[in-house]
Amino acid sequence: MKLSEREIIGQGFRYPIELHEDFQGLSEKLNSLPKVSKVYVLTSREIAGIYEKYITKELSSLNVPFSFIYLKPGEKNKHIDRVKKVYNQLIETDADRKAVVIAFGGGVVGDFAGFIAATYQRGVRFVQVPTTLLACVDSSVGGKVAVNVDSGKNMVGAFYQPEFVFAPLFTLSTLPEKEWSCGLAEIAKHAFLDGGDFLDKISKSKRSDFSANSPILRYAIEESVRVKSGIVSQDEKETGLRAVLNLGHTTGHAIESLTQYKKYSHGEAVAVGLVTALLLSRELVGFSESNFQRAITLMKQLELPTRLEEKPDEILKHMEHDKKKEGTSLKFVLLEDFGKPKFGVSVERKNIFEILKRQKGKL
Ligand code: ADP
Ligand code: ZN
Repeated sequence: MKLSEREIIGQGFRYPIELHEDFQGLSEKLNSLPKVSKVYVLTSREIAGIYEKYITKELSSLNVPFSFIYLKPGEKNKHIDRVKKVYNQLIETDADRKAVVIAFGGGVVGDFAGFIAATYQRGVRFVQVPTTLLACVDSSVGGKVAVNVDSGKNMVGAFYQPEFVFAPLFTLSTLPEKEWSCGLAEIAKHAFLDGGDFLDKISKSKRSDFSANSPILRYAIEESVRVKSGIVSQDEKETGLRAVLNLGHTTGHAIESLTQYKKYSHGEAVAVGLVTALLLSRELVGFSESNFQRAITLMKQLELPTRLEEKPDEILKHMEHDKKKEGTSLKFVLLEDFGKPKFGVSVERKNIFEILKRQKGKL
């Protein structure tokens, strides 16, 4: 059953993001795309292990053949070296330009399958069926697709928008706790960027209120999509405003790379990074004490990590590898108020160091 639908509109693209209870209706949507020759479902063995039988049942109503291509799980396999193998699988099965690629999984599958769709025969149509909260609220919205190369994450990619996003929310019922944190951190980020009713309502919730079929989960996904798509439709290619979506990510990325992507999920690292951004915002751009306390309370209610466990000088070193480097300062997204982000704020290294030191203590 379709639960809700939101349209994302930008320059030269327009597509729906639909929340569904399960897979029912996916075939009908695919059948309505013009001139499809075949459907390829790109997924991982882990996800297929739980959900292949359900999606297969639904896809049996397709007017065209379909098949699965299994990707090795995990960020390390979202690698350029793996791409060739999938191109070959497509060529060997006569995939033509009328083929449709479905990304069935989390952000890793979405990025990889999207990259394949964007490049195979100069682009075939692409559909996102996200199965993680992060993919529902963040990575499936906005059209960024990418793979990793040896020297860097997401270094090769494209802006490539899907035909539609179809989120079967019941798949979230098997999501590991760390993955819930991942999505909830990006939801908190969107609520801070938006302010207003979204933040008010989320502030009244605690982590246990969020489950696969809870109304607050659906609300939070809908609102996150609204906030993110509103920003993306104004600046698809990140020439300016889209950068606000990096709130919390300067420190977040540094923590992830310092801990070699093992200790924290992306969202957990972003949660710690959000706190750094909130502390800097209070110090430098007039974010009020009461707003600060409210933000921390919300993060604690969502059971997100807030305290920095790593060494400030090591974090700084990793930040300097980041693309936002500039002289003796680094660029941050900060908040003047909820709903009032400011991007490209230069912060001196010594200020960052002081704030990181503070974040190691009690907030
Ligand atoms: P994201 O980038 O969206 O956080 P990933 O694609 O890295 O997610 O997936 C994170 C992990 O969760 C992977 O091990 C993946 O196989 C697993 N996973 C994804 N969706 C589900 C689900 N609905 N139920 C159980 N595990 C899932
Ligand atoms: Zn993120």
